Amino acid sequence: MKKPFLSIVVPCYNEEEVLNETTKQLTEVLMTLTERELIDPESKVIYVDDGSKDATWQLISEKTAENPYISGVKLSRNFGHQGALLAGLNAAYEKSDCVVSIDADLQDDVNAIIPFVEKFHEGFDVVYGVRGKRDTDTFFKRNTALGFYRFMDKIGVKLVPNHADFRLLSKRALKEFLNYKEENMFIRGIVPLLGFPSTKVYYDRNERFAGESKYPLKKMISFAIDGITSFSIVPIRMLFSLGVIMFCIGIGIGVYALIQKFIGHVESGWTSLMISLWIVGGIQLLAIGVLGEYVGKIFKEVKGRPRYTIEENLFEEKMAE
Ligand code: UDP
Ligand code: MG
Repeated sequence: MKKPFLSIVVPCYNEEEVLNETTKQLTEVLMTLTERELIDPESKVIYVDDGSKDATWQLISEKTAENPYISGVKLSRNFGHQGALLAGLNAAYEKSDCVVSIDADLQDDVNAIIPFVEKFHEGFDVVYGVRGKRDTDTFFKRNTALGFYRFMDKIGVKLVPNHADFRLLSKRALKEFLNYKEENMFIRGIVPLLGFPSTKVYYDRNERFAGESKYPLKKMISFAIDGITSFSIVPIRMLFSLGVIMFCIGIGIGVYALIQKFIGHVESGWTSLMISLWIVGGIQLLAIGVLGEYVGKIFKEVKGRPRYTIEENLFEEKMAE
């Protein structure tokens, strides 16, 4: 029987400092899996260069030439982590029986890929890599992430806690995944929606091997906002509830003002009028802001722009040989 072809998709943005080590470790993993006859010996690593400004692509090309396990795809500019991942998964789809996605920085334990593949052989379509402990991440990162998972859970978005984008997908899970055509891709929110048998593999998260995080606070916030507004209308509902409460209070104030008017105290009330004016004004602004966020999403969605453009595809070339 033919062994499953595994592709390991690795998004890379300015990762020249880690690529040598990452390549070494991933090659070892692929060799081990090949020796144990768990995968097709032709299996590949697909590096996705996400518009890096350093020597990342040069390194990927060199490694493609010298190492039979390595290949790469170069994006025409920086599309962000999720875009790069999507590009890699799409590139891998046709040839692969299963795909693993992992970051380039070796924070996720590459050796966990071995149990991923074992689980795949047991018949699981989705295998989540879950961080056992996170004490190598900064205090700030750990707690903001934890808060985010809690909040997402509250508003009804089902995420796998402590799971980022380190996972295995079978071909049919990947096929379904690629059917999600939305512009605002929040990948880790979509995977649990796929269904199929799934399981978790626990591992310890390491420190970044070298270089700096490519996720500064600004990107983290926009990632979180995308996650929320792509999956949940709870913020709109919360505003709606707030609107209802304010309306009820407004009626109460109206009745009170009328009674005061009939009793004859007319000129007092300027203060309360000012206060309600300000409150209502504030709520309206807030509501417009939230609506704007969703309208912005619709705007992006209807344009249906491609989410990435591949400039070169060494993977395809290599496979055609
Ligand atoms: N990455 C990318 N494009 C970007 C930012 C990041 O492809 O615009 C890649 C990066 O090279 C790494 C992964 O996404 O492989 C995760 O980034 P990083 O490790 O910097 O994030 P952190 O672990 O700090 O959240
Ligand atoms: Mg990292």
